[in-house]
Amino acid sequence: MALIVQKFGGSSVADAEGIKRVATRVVETQAAGNQVVVVVSAMGDSTDELLDLAAQVSTASNPREMDMLLSAGERISMALLAMALHEAGTSAQSFTGSQAGMITDAIHGKARIIAVSPHRIKASIDKGDIAIVAGFQGMSRDSNDITTLGRGGSDTTAVALAAALKADVCEIYTDVDGVYTADPRVVPAARKLATISSEEMLEMAASGAKILHLRCVEYARRFGVPLHVRSSFSQLEGTWVLPNPDDTIKIQEGEPLEQPIISGVAHDRSEAKVTVVGVPDIPGKAAEIFGIVAGAHSNIDMIVQNVSTHGSGHTDISFTLPIVEGAEALTALKAAQETVGYEGIEYDEQIGKLSLIGAGMRSNPGVSYKFFKALSDAGVNIDMISTSEIRISVVTSAHLLDTAVRAVHAAFDLDGDAVATVYAGTGR
Ligand code: ADP
Ligand code: ASP
Ligand code: MG
Repeated sequence: MALIVQKFGGSSVADAEGIKRVATRVVETQAAGNQVVVVVSAMGDSTDELLDLAAQVSTASNPREMDMLLSAGERISMALLAMALHEAGTSAQSFTGSQAGMITDAIHGKARIIAVSPHRIKASIDKGDIAIVAGFQGMSRDSNDITTLGRGGSDTTAVALAAALKADVCEIYTDVDGVYTADPRVVPAARKLATISSEEMLEMAASGAKILHLRCVEYARRFGVPLHVRSSFSQLEGTWVLPNPDDTIKIQEGEPLEQPIISGVAHDRSEAKVTVVGVPDIPGKAAEIFGIVAGAHSNIDMIVQNVSTHGSGHTDISFTLPIVEGAEALTALKAAQETVGYEGIEYDEQIGKLSLIGAGMRSNPGVSYKFFKALSDAGVNIDMISTSEIRISVVTSAHLLDTAVRAVHAAFDLDGDAVATVYAGTGR
């Protein structure tokens, strides 16, 4: 008997019909002789709607209350799914994150998992029930408060449970048939990948491909959990994210012997660019600036420092960070203007980031040239550049991002013949 963890995203449980469809799928999985643990997200865009509501009643930040509010979304889905499963004649029980033993640190809004003790889940499936767990949430042992793991965090709940329960597979059900060479909402000609290495999936997720939560991919790799990303709207085989580097040599019949050079293109609209203008060009200033930003709990992504103009003794430092962390970082930086001695600060939310990802980049010269040529042919101006061993990223202006993604996708021959199916969801 296999143990399968199945996670259903918001678009899969968006309404009563969706919940019933998911219930049927779960019942079929159990009837095929498996133990099933289900992780659910909040219905449709309800997490965004709760955030909108909060913004209407308060402009201040209320991290503890925000987590109480947002964690309610997943509780609604889990209870409704349990009822639909009872209606279908099976025995099911739902559990909140804390009841399921998801212990986190106390950082509201982006809590990290520190322990998983799913005793109640184990007991429930061992007596033949279907256990349903609310994704995206946990509890801090220090504060005894409810926490959330950050947007998209239900994927991470599912993998953490799969690892703790030693599940055979963790299935991530969503509104597209798997991981594609680009977001099918932006590139209709994107192709579904049969497999992707966890190394490449990590870069895709870190570069904004929200199909999988970054921490879910990291967790799956660390604990060797096989991830299968697929659609709850079709019976098609999805994409397997292979946890071990050696797995990539398991060539299936009919597949080319060498992996393609490029696995995909990712894009991200969730970042803003900060430019600190006229920073004294002396040792220690960059450390001061990034110390202040770290103190405001911001995660910095790309960094560019311009060469100081001859004789001016001053330079500009630009960096990107998540838009949601922008306000706090700006306040902290402005408060330190005199101590740091910079001249001014610029802030731009109208930017987009595009990344090209592929493990084959390491051994193939000419990838950068082709990439920049495609952008130049499409008339896209580049603001910032960063690279890793298997990724090239650029920042462009937001309104050119979609054009840039399609141009790069086509230049690397990633376009397929068919139009990728997007079954549901609003892309919000
Ligand atoms: P869920 O609610 O099921 O968690 P998400 O909205 O978080 O779903 O993630 C699924 C979406 O991710 C897709 O609808 C698609 O628009 C987007 N996406 C971005 N990049 C990719 C990619 N490379 N392959 C497939 N989907 C992608
Ligand atoms: N409901 C949460 C969100 O919208 C968590 C998730 O869906 O994974 O971010
Ligand atoms: Mg998601």
